[in-house]
Amino acid sequence: MQPSTYPLIDPDQALALVLHEVAVLGTEELPLAACPNRVLAQDLIAEQDLPAFSSSAVDGYALRAADSGGRLPLAGEAAAGRPFQGSLPEAAAARILTGGVLPEGADTVVMLEEVRAGADWVEVPAGLRPGSNYHRPGADLTTGTRVLRRGEVLGPAELGLAAALNRPSLTVHRHPRIALMSTGDELVQVGGRLEPGQIIDSNRWALLAALREAGAEVSLLPAAPDDPAQLRRLVLGALSEHEVLVTSGGVSVGSHDLVKPLLESLGKVHIGRVKLKPGKPFTFATLSQGRLAFGLPGFPVSSLVTFEVFVRPALRRMQGFRELQRPRLPVRLDFDAKPAVGRTEYHRVSLRRKGDELIAQTTGSQSSSRLLSLVGAHALVRIPPGDEPVRRGSQVEALILSLPAD
Ligand code: AMP
Ligand code: MG
Repeated sequence: MQPSTYPLIDPDQALALVLHEVAVLGTEELPLAACPNRVLAQDLIAEQDLPAFSSSAVDGYALRAADSGGRLPLAGEAAAGRPFQGSLPEAAAARILTGGVLPEGADTVVMLEEVRAGADWVEVPAGLRPGSNYHRPGADLTTGTRVLRRGEVLGPAELGLAAALNRPSLTVHRHPRIALMSTGDELVQVGGRLEPGQIIDSNRWALLAALREAGAEVSLLPAAPDDPAQLRRLVLGALSEHEVLVTSGGVSVGSHDLVKPLLESLGKVHIGRVKLKPGKPFTFATLSQGRLAFGLPGFPVSSLVTFEVFVRPALRRMQGFRELQRPRLPVRLDFDAKPAVGRTEYHRVSLRRKGDELIAQTTGSQSSSRLLSLVGAHALVRIPPGDEPVRRGSQVEALILSLPAD
């Protein structure tokens, strides 16, 4: 085994190097059905008022406030989608249902609960005020308002708003097309029979989930054997239709680690090693036509942690997200953490709240093969390199994956 010649790069510097090479992808117009969680690539300007008409907020009776206090004949009904025809006669009321158009001439609505009514009359209390119990045109938003800005993520409210403004399609950023490939002679696909020394290709599924969560369109390639010619053939085939290649395995310094030399021959390797635990052999290269390659380490936790730290922000930039990284918050350690020598450790923790603070408990053994260290992890806490333990009670920075309810 030869020592690697790649310089060890600080993780923050490595992320900056990656992001420097990543461009925002182009745009496409999609029907609303395909828009959830996409990033809007255009401002959305309202071309109408909402509500578009005076719309009753309750079930009740529409009348002129000046006629309140007494019995009024009923002149008809305004239901949702079925307006009262003509204008309301003097000294009369109309039955109105929630969402019904306020009849012309009426200036207030009295709730059902506040009246006595017969088949063709209603007794309304005295002192009703004009303007009660209905939404005015433009009360929610007026024509010309910029309701959504480009860069905004299309969640439920944003999509509902676009639909309410009668937009059947929106211009959004494209999803990155990713080719995902595991490498290694020892790999067997899930459901298969294991011979001695073989393991299941679990990274394929872990990374598929991570990629989907990050908004990628993923093609699952067959796992590549530790053979330079076959690996090259599979990678070249994949690159023709994808803008990003993500591999796992084959990036450390053993003789079967073939990904780095292949990427060297296809483009420029910017990162070959990082001062990160787990994930030291993380590799990043740019290839022709703006394509990117991420060579993730083989150990399952290493591949997911380096995905989180380097790949996810890059994929989010491609899709036009403004926020690329997970939120960072200070947390208080509830255990003694032993730093790694010369490397920042992303220690997996669960969190609980105590007063205003977040308390971090280790998920147990931090072995890079132990996926259980990530199951139920709320955060990755950054333990800076050093010789001395970071003591229980110390405050450290954490990358928040999710927050506990309590
Ligand atoms: P490598 O970086 O190829 O030397 O892989 C390091 C270790 O990671 C291997 O010895 C396996 O135990 C594990 N590994 C590699 N690829 C996978 C995979 N696709 N799924 C699960 N574990 C893997
Ligand atoms: Mg391998």
